[in-house]
Amino acid sequence: MARIYLDNAATTSLDPEVLDAMMPFLTEKFGNPSSIYSYGRETKLAIENARKSVAKILGANPGEIFFTSGGTESSNTAIHAAVNDLGCKHIISSPVEHHATLHTVEHMAHFSKVKLSFVNMLPTGHIDLAHLEELMAGSNEKTLVTLMHANNEIGNLLDMDAVSALCKKYDCIFHSDTVQTVGHYPFNLKETYIHFINGSGHKFHGPKGVGILYVNESINIKPYINGGAQERNMRAGTENLYGIIGFAKALEIATQRYAEDSAYMQGLKEYMASALVQNFPGVTFNGDTNGKSLYTVLNASFPLTEKSDMLLFNLDMAGICVSGGSACTSGANSTSHVIKAINSNHENIVPIRFSFSRHSTKDEIDMVLNTLKTNL
Ligand code: PLP
Repeated sequence: MARIYLDNAATTSLDPEVLDAMMPFLTEKFGNPSSIYSYGRETKLAIENARKSVAKILGANPGEIFFTSGGTESSNTAIHAAVNDLGCKHIISSPVEHHATLHTVEHMAHFSKVKLSFVNMLPTGHIDLAHLEELMAGSNEKTLVTLMHANNEIGNLLDMDAVSALCKKYDCIFHSDTVQTVGHYPFNLKETYIHFINGSGHKFHGPKGVGILYVNESINIKPYINGGAQERNMRAGTENLYGIIGFAKALEIATQRYAEDSAYMQGLKEYMASALVQNFPGVTFNGDTNGKSLYTVLNASFPLTEKSDMLLFNLDMAGICVSGGSACTSGANSTSHVIKAINSNHENIVPIRFSFSRHSTKDEIDMVLNTLKTNL
């Protein structure tokens, strides 16, 4: 059975061109980058070139980019460092963060005794900026603000400029989980008041298990993983060499293709949203679908009925790969914490996230619409 993959916010397929760039480092160029002889020097150079390329694309200095195992490790590193090394005693976050952030700030609140505040959510799925400022203004301790740039479930985009300006005004440390936007939007970190961002290769047709942490050069932090001197003493462990090469190549390709690909996916999203409205009475959308929203994500809710309760299962049976929450919670079959936080009617709906890549097509969307018709 041919499968239709519309779960690109969970992960994307590896671009063959990225694989080609990685292959020599999986075969003949296998040296340990810490070795001082030629095998090591060639792989070390390749990593430093990858770092330069990533830094240039993000508008950062190469010294501000650290390669990690992915978005989760990067967020853990940033949040631990803000508390342990930068003296933050108060964390402001939101209830719709990815668990990589949410579980980490809860851990810090429990074990490091920092104060944890959650900003109120608006029904659109955006944070309440006035409440955010109230929390900042009322804080008399050094504060970390950690708010995601784009929500992986509903697609909402943070008003980065507004949050960044508030963090500057109140002298906060600012971390943004940018896993859904690095490789999907342009960045200019030199122009942005921000201390940490993260990225994950597998969200933009790069390999899994590799990511970056950007650490603004104005701050000094200690490693989260201790051991060898890799990543300038900031992240111990032999580098994921081919992963790093793949991350940089995928980011280069995504950047070159950004204008064309983003317009194409935005078109698919709009096409699917209007077809859903035309064909399925009672369908609603989670998040600010037509406003500040990722072009890759469309999260629709269908009214809960005996039939729709089985929808995810039935779509899977028909070879359609979509998710109800994020990939990390979909196996658990529980309502997503994001939907719960923004929709008081969450018990009466079946939310489905459709997420697109440059390989998605209108034909696939039409087939999904037909399958939905027989299953609702
Ligand atoms: N943050 C967001 C918003 C994500 O979507 C993901 C991916 O699932 C992560 C963090 C975790 O990234 P990784 O899979 O690289 O650990």
